[in-house]
Amino acid sequence: MTKTIEIEKTMTVGSLADHLTIPVSKLIGELMKNGVMVTVNERIDIDTAQIIIDELGLDVQLIEKETENKIVQHKKNKISDANGTKRPPVVAVMGHVDHGKTSLLDAIRETNVTQKEAGGITQHISAYQIEHNKRLITFLDTPGHEAFAALREHGAALTDLAIIVVAGDDGVKPQTLEAIRFANNANVKMIFAVNKMDKPESDINRVKQQLAEHNILAEDWGGDAIIMPVSAKTKDGINELIDMVLLLADVEELKADTKLSAQGLVIESHLETGKGSVAICLVEQGILHLNQYIVIGAIYGKIRTLETTNGSAINQAGPSTPVVITGLKGMPAFGDEFYVAESEKEAKRAAEEFKLSSKGKTSQSVSTGSELLSIINRKQTRQELNILIKADVQGSLTSVIDSLKSLEHEEVAVRVVGSGIGAINESDLHMAQTSSAVIYAFHIDIPQNIKQLARRDKITIKKYDVIYELIEDAKARMSDLLAPKIIETDLGRLLVKGIFKTTKNDVICGGEVSKGKISAPALARIERDGENIGEAELIGVKKGSTDVKEILEGEMCGLHLSTSNKLDIQEGDKIEIFTREAVSRTL
Ligand code: GDP
Repeated sequence: MTKTIEIEKTMTVGSLADHLTIPVSKLIGELMKNGVMVTVNERIDIDTAQIIIDELGLDVQLIEKETENKIVQHKKNKISDANGTKRPPVVAVMGHVDHGKTSLLDAIRETNVTQKEAGGITQHISAYQIEHNKRLITFLDTPGHEAFAALREHGAALTDLAIIVVAGDDGVKPQTLEAIRFANNANVKMIFAVNKMDKPESDINRVKQQLAEHNILAEDWGGDAIIMPVSAKTKDGINELIDMVLLLADVEELKADTKLSAQGLVIESHLETGKGSVAICLVEQGILHLNQYIVIGAIYGKIRTLETTNGSAINQAGPSTPVVITGLKGMPAFGDEFYVAESEKEAKRAAEEFKLSSKGKTSQSVSTGSELLSIINRKQTRQELNILIKADVQGSLTSVIDSLKSLEHEEVAVRVVGSGIGAINESDLHMAQTSSAVIYAFHIDIPQNIKQLARRDKITIKKYDVIYELIEDAKARMSDLLAPKIIETDLGRLLVKGIFKTTKNDVICGGEVSKGKISAPALARIERDGENIGEAELIGVKKGSTDVKEILEGEMCGLHLSTSNKLDIQEGDKIEIFTREAVSRTL
């Protein structure tokens, strides 16, 4: 019988292989045979996927999901904005490594940031606003293409425009084409910035020619592609580029409804000493206010501080504004949506409902009040080992990713947050930092400056030349994420025959050891009429008035118990003495 699989309109090669339960390498091989050169993280459309499935002889029919999904939702919002107010454009800068994305963003910021705040946030910020001709533009410093793809997977249509940077001396490269594909898939307008025009060897016509080979025709060549010369170094062309961004924004008539209650997306989150969870969010609709309650999936909180990404405290933020928020009870993830709740009660309820709906299957309540609860709780959500991989060639990259995927475990998943060919660069570091990923350098050297930056930012980079060793390292890291096994060992039982002393946190009681032998330190579980009424620590045992090491079955003794709650022990209760250990496990 034909199996049907519901799937999004486009999917990554990796997720299709998962759905089909076949090895990724087999799928990539078949795609290559059909002239489609893709890696595990690249997306293919449903029609291509169906052709490959048929070629593979699998009896599977793909059906496009009824997409009442978030992309549609977002688009709907955008359409319903028609009578809203004008908002600044949100721009992403993408392109091949070393073509000057970072330099261009820096140049734009330097030429346009009007107020320079002292004591602002010094760490890298993933979004900021500039003011140009009295108008605002929001730039996203997306950490590499994977982040863009990740946002897409979350269903977020975050950007309005993409600036695709192409180095004039190097021309169109694989990542340039990837960036174009992302922008096209996201239905985002592009501006090509041909950078490094200060270099004598740069040649904008060669870039136009190369783009033309991919059906992107420059305006002066009769097409409609906007291709502009710039130099991040000399700042030539930067103002013209920004003017063009604003012009395109006008054409697009970007609007948002400021009357709606605020909603938007998380673009970064991290923990900061003294501040707790810090989230950088982009407001999409409505006006976000200080002290409002917001919900982000299973996390909620009251906005305790609201700041611009240059560190200025503000009371409210409108559409397209990136803001830094503290006050959340937890760390939201990149791409998560936030919205405002009416009250703390409503926020809490929404967060709890989300938790139940998404994790209901695994989150039973645990009937122990012990200090190990937090460890036990770790069992309930699947841990993830985040990995970013750079390799020398496509073949080795694919094999490493395939081998890592084969390590999948029911309690720990491997998540490849980024991958690519060639040297590790700063955007890889940024991506690894944002997603707390370990970076694997396979068959490649690590540049000295990257080593230094990684050391400064405490990012782990591991270099390997043998797959087996890399996999062993990943396995060890996954083992560290496994919740430890809790082992309880019974020592003995005692029947309480008298209570000698009770204070707020201590009880000294006496009784007869009915089974086993009792020694301290250990734990005590108190039972009355077959019911567990609490746990305590056994801190000492006495025979008469002397402290002893252990008491054997049949002997009378005194127990010194201690708890953080008041213990109500009565004559006739049974006390079970045991030890509890957390033993780490390996995969
Ligand atoms: P990214 O990997 O795309 O972010 O590229 P970077 O911004 O890190 O730039 C890569 C290299 O190109 C750096 O050494 C920059 O100094 C250099 N670079 C960037 N823009 C220009 C430019 O306009 N002119 C020249 N001559 N060099 C540039």
